Amino acid sequence: MPTIFEQIVDGEIPGRIVHETETTLAFLDANPLARGHTLVIPKDPYERLDDMPADIASDVFSVVHELTPAIEDAVDADATTIGMNNGEAAGQEVPHAHVHIVPRFDGDGGGPIHAVSPSRPDLSDEELDEIQDSIADR
Ligand code: AMP
Repeated sequence: MPTIFEQIVDGEIPGRIVHETETTLAFLDANPLARGHTLVIPKDPYERLDDMPADIASDVFSVVHELTPAIEDAVDADATTIGMNNGEAAGQEVPHAHVHIVPRFDGDGGGPIHAVSPSRPDLSDEELDEIQDSIADR
């Protein structure tokens, strides 16, 4: 069953496309959190960031880099929040990797990315060492 985003890529359902390359597509979010809320996707249906080959991830983030100032200009935004819900536990609803570019405005009442966590873990130095080594050793 193709994802809804594959159907947009294939032209089977409409999307408000703002940018396209051989490997990526960017379109307005159908349920925007702010004016100009845009999604950037790989055309192939990788579910998560780590499913994408490095060159495709690089293509996606290159488009994010290129489009962000264009989006800010288009809606006269003061800033942007950029992020992925990377996996179901993180709130990903469409299982086709996508980067959200959400325009932000002075005093818009929204929170920073830190708002994703209701509390912060209290980590000992040993735990931090272990996490640091485990990431660095991969
Ligand atoms: P996520 O929770 O990160 O998977 O977010 C999925 C996003 O896709 C939501 O912000 C939806 O509003 C958006 N969305 C769902 N269907 C469509 C669609 N047909 N066209 C554009 N955006 C969509």
